[in-house]
Amino acid sequence: MFISLIANSCISFTGIYFISKIMNYDTKHEGVKNMLIGLLSGCLGIFLITQGVVVEEVIKIDFRFLVLILLGFYRLVSPLIIAATMIVVYRFSYGIDFQSIVAFICLVLIVIGILITYNIASLENQLFRFSLILNMLACSIVGLSIYTSGAFSESAAHAALLIVMISFPVGMLITLLNVDLYLINHRVKEYKISAETDHLTGLANRRAWEIQMKKIKERYDTCNVLILDIDYFKQINDQYGHSNGDEILKQFAQLLHRETRDHDIKARIGGEEFGILIPMLSQGEVMKVAERIRNSISKHEFKLLNQQVINISVSIGIANGKSEHLLEMIHLADECLYHAKNQGRNRTHIHGGVEYVQ
Ligand code: GH3
Ligand code: MG
Ligand code: MG
Repeated sequence: MFISLIANSCISFTGIYFISKIMNYDTKHEGVKNMLIGLLSGCLGIFLITQGVVVEEVIKIDFRFLVLILLGFYRLVSPLIIAATMIVVYRFSYGIDFQSIVAFICLVLIVIGILITYNIASLENQLFRFSLILNMLACSIVGLSIYTSGAFSESAAHAALLIVMISFPVGMLITLLNVDLYLINHRVKEYKISAETDHLTGLANRRAWEIQMKKIKERYDTCNVLILDIDYFKQINDQYGHSNGDEILKQFAQLLHRETRDHDIKARIGGEEFGILIPMLSQGEVMKVAERIRNSISKHEFKLLNQQVINISVSIGIANGKSEHLLEMIHLADECLYHAKNQGRNRTHIHGGVEYVQ
């Protein structure tokens, strides 16, 4: 019997490991992912019931609740409800008797306990304590339910003790493994964001801009590349100091953010040079966007650190074309920018010779 329980622990461990891999998988379809996690967890719970070990004529023990602890650890409500419902329905399909009712009450108590535990805000950053409480809670409810199912007999007490002694360390091992998986994933995400962000302005940096270009090529047929360069920025640095220059760059980035849509890709691609990728707009439409940006920058009152207000202007070069030629378009946009600077700055020049001035 002891060996069967250890074998069951291994099944739980393996199943839960695979489910947690799915949990840590990044996807836009969170709803589908949660549904899948719920269904797989329900199936694993049911499989664990079928592998249950008979301790005495009426007492059978299994590890179905370990699945619920895992869902609790990840604070997933809908998969928890799906898995718990599947387990309850399956258990009742055996017939409704005293044991199945006790098992049902035990499951409901575990689910409620988990929901209450993960709503305790102070546990949010204490993953070890959180998993310890989840395991203690589930194990004590299961132990109590087995003792009750066996009519408080001596052998029921032994069975209860046995399941607690095996499932508690297994549950802790599983949740500790998940603490590691969770932390690794969390850190990888943080490092990725940090590697692709310009720390001064919070916009994408050059690396992210190049990665996004590849995505745009795959996703959209046509695209616009805008390159913006602040006019006479060196003078601002010389006159007001480098920290004031940085402050202007930050406010400039905020303005870009305000004047573009979420799916336009904005990046700081050089010192005071910014790039915007705008998919799908025609030459006429993108010109309007660029002019709106240029005008709002020239009208904006940029605040220095001592609250003094100054005005700046920007020159913009634009290339419009098929996304497959994005690299050539960057060159073209650069040439247009050069042209706009040579023509006197504070103006937009688009490939094709159209020029807009204030
Ligand atoms: P133009 O109108 O021709 O663009 O003139 P400009 O002075 O803006 O052009 P230039 O490229 O000569 O100068 C850019 C300046 O931007 C030089 C550099 O000191 C400054 N710069 C680059 N990166 C940063 C930064 O991170 N912070 C600050 N404060 N200044 C920066
Ligand atoms: Mg420059
Ligand atoms: Mg400049």
